Amino acid sequence: MGNIVAIVGRPNVGKSTLFNRLIERREAIVDPTSGVTRDRHYGKAEWIGKEFSVIDTGGYVKGSDDVFEEQINRQVELALDEADIILFMVDVTTGITDLDQGVANLLRRTDKPVILACNKVDNNKLRLDAAEFYQFGLGDVHEISASNGGGTGDLLDEIVAHFEEEVQEEDELPRIAVVGKPNVGKSSLINAILGEERNIVTDVAGTTRDSLDTHYNSFGFDLKIVDTAGIRKKKKVHEDIEFYSVMRSIRAIEHSDVCILMIDAEEGFQKQDLNIFYVIEKNKKGVVVLVNKWDLVQDKDSNIVKKWTDDIKEKIAPFTDVPIIYTSTLTKQRIHKALETAIEVHKRRTTKIPTSKLNEVMLEEIERYPPPALKGKYIKIKYMMQLPTHNPAFAFFCNLPQYIKEPYKRFLENKLRSHFNLTGVPSHNAWPAPPASGGRSVF
Ligand code: GDP
Ligand code: GDP
Repeated sequence: MGNIVAIVGRPNVGKSTLFNRLIERREAIVDPTSGVTRDRHYGKAEWIGKEFSVIDTGGYVKGSDDVFEEQINRQVELALDEADIILFMVDVTTGITDLDQGVANLLRRTDKPVILACNKVDNNKLRLDAAEFYQFGLGDVHEISASNGGGTGDLLDEIVAHFEEEVQEEDELPRIAVVGKPNVGKSSLINAILGEERNIVTDVAGTTRDSLDTHYNSFGFDLKIVDTAGIRKKKKVHEDIEFYSVMRSIRAIEHSDVCILMIDAEEGFQKQDLNIFYVIEKNKKGVVVLVNKWDLVQDKDSNIVKKWTDDIKEKIAPFTDVPIIYTSTLTKQRIHKALETAIEVHKRRTTKIPTSKLNEVMLEEIERYPPPALKGKYIKIKYMMQLPTHNPAFAFFCNLPQYIKEPYKRFLENKLRSHFNLTGVPSHNAWPAPPASGGRSVF
């Protein structure tokens, strides 16, 4: 289930260079959040129409001067647990190092597909040197140059050849994933919701070891809870908490419609939480943020919820139109509300806005505040429609889409949100180019 590709290897072989190349093209086209400064170690890539998740395992330890063998090995082990395909990178200019050897030893033990990419093969002369890496016994050595793109097409062909066909879900129930870093209260929440029922109505979906969907049909709810935390064996986590948190959430997020992202009120909204939020956003899933352990917060003055909410919104910007609920699984405070909100988000995410209504409302807004002229050119947005995608996406037809700047796009996004209530739902807007010739007269 799922197509999650993890890039592993020692530092400086070119993992992040390749990662950026893989996600770049797609982000430039469809991602409204690109350009926002964030840690980018997780992204979605696409090749011959197949979309997949890529994770740069090295990205999470960047900046630390010494990366120890032990640390790399832990990352490789986690990648082996959580990813579907392992992309092992080595560097032709250095040849085999001890660290490479260590990683290769771990990878030889897995049943998962391991693809060996020998990087920095920038020219034909270096190709002979790449042959050295056959001695790992990990199959073909794919010669690539992450910096100039050489060989990456063949590499991508090899990656997608290992993808599993997507299995259509047999039912239409909303799937709600409970995600968050370790110890925020995910298991407690799931137990509070499911109670005793959990042991009775569980059915394993997809493959054996991973996500477990539990059908929940009580108190007017009919949905599936996608569980990551509770059921999987808990390992002791001391370090690499960011990498661990993200890696363990990806599959559940991909498998869900709406994610309940739990954060710990004692710790506040941290970088690890943001990283998971980012994965949810990248996958365009609905989201509800729970600030859990609210019972532990002392001095709840009248302003405290606003302060917290403002702080979280500042951190998750620009996608801030997100419900934030203050819960305690201990006292059961607002647990029902959390679930109710997740279902509302699901409904909004699947609602289609009629084209006539969309145009009526939005064209009026555009008339009131038109896009500013640029270089003396008059910019006209003529028409818009919702695209037939899983998550809300809107196409705006305009004579000079390249002249519409980011602030104006945000203005439109905010108007869409205020008129059509998309709270908790990531959306994206497309600006198709007008027909190259002859079509201009339309505008
Ligand atoms: P990481 O630590 O594995 O993520 O490695 P980086 O992507 O940060 O790359 C390490 C260094 O190798 C940087 O200076 C890159 O510019 C360089 N590099 C990456 N890919 C290539 C390549 O294909 N050819 C050459 N010559 N240099 C590369
Ligand atoms: P998980 O790792 O995210 O599944 O977290 P757990 O559900 O195992 O909870 C971690 C710890 O936090 C446990 O000791 C829980 O009892 C505690 N905990 C969870 N939710 C709450 C809460 O709302 N209030 C308080 N005070 N403790 C909580």
